[in-house]
Amino acid sequence: MEILDGRLASQTIREELKLKTAQRGVEGKKTPHLAAVLVGNNGASETYVNAKVKACAEVGFKSTLIKLTEDITESALLSTIEKLNVDPDIDGILVQLPLPKQVSENKIINAINPLKDVDGFHPVSVGKMIQGLDTFIPATPYGIMLLLEHYKIETAGLHAVVIGRSNIVGRPISILLSNNTQPGNCTVTLCHSRTRNLEALCREADIIVAALGKPEFIRADMVKGGAILVDVGITRVADPGKKSGFALKGDAHFESVAPKCSWITPVPGGVGPMTIAGLLKNTFRACEEQDDSSEQ
Ligand code: NAP
Repeated sequence: MEILDGRLASQTIREELKLKTAQRGVEGKKTPHLAAVLVGNNGASETYVNAKVKACAEVGFKSTLIKLTEDITESALLSTIEKLNVDPDIDGILVQLPLPKQVSENKIINAINPLKDVDGFHPVSVGKMIQGLDTFIPATPYGIMLLLEHYKIETAGLHAVVIGRSNIVGRPISILLSNNTQPGNCTVTLCHSRTRNLEALCREADIIVAALGKPEFIRADMVKGGAILVDVGITRVADPGKKSGFALKGDAHFESVAPKCSWITPVPGGVGPMTIAGLLKNTFRACEEQDDSSEQ
């Protein structure tokens, strides 16, 4: 069994971006600038946004964190997005999900300028991704593809079972793994809470992408010997022994599943850091593309 080490792979990507960002400075080009919008006081969301802002600083990007209160109206959030859309110094906009009930996530996502859609959730980005065109890919599935690429995992012809059909993870990774690319060229089965015989499907899988958010759901008897397991799940489980009061659990029971796998991602230290690497790459790309459009 070998570890798909997201910390290591993301470090390589960050170092590359740091050099490229410094080079932009030498050439007198603008510094990539991410705007992150955080609504309310959700502890997990705050942790994720802070990690993204910190990662921007590490690679030399600018970032602006906009904190808004839980009771914000939809129209006020839309006007915040509109200001960021037209601000020439902002290259990428991310709105941390989930949003409070009074705000439609779809409306907010649709309001983001597709040129600044570094989360890759806008219908323009999603449509291009489905057509196999070059575009912003949502950060988590992008990070998973980068991780498979980093470790040169040959995926052509493998049967991938993806568990979870969210727009953020399950659906996009099922599309990317089925693309005629490397990594890719998998035969993909997309599973969800209504799937019958999930355990039997998992036992047939060469690759399992677990993105259901149910801690330690995947057990050793659900995994074929030599399978590749990508564990996307991150759930905070109460743990009085920890200073924070919780432990982070993946969707697989790592200790029992890992010995059966050829490759496995740990939680934490697997998909999480790769998600940030995906976001940073998208932000850099947004900045370069906006250079190109301003030169025309
Ligand atoms: P989500 O929107 O809640 O979607 C969960 C999906 O899992 C749904 O499609 C659901 O099916 C399916 N599901 C739930 N229980 C199931 C079961 N017993 N059997 C089969 N399918 C089941 O979650 P998400 O946003 O995709 O996130 C999934 C997990 O990944 C969470 O733990 C989240 O925290 C984590 N995550 C991690 C990162 C990272 O950077 N590492 C990034 C994003 C998300 P239905 O559609 O039928 O309800």
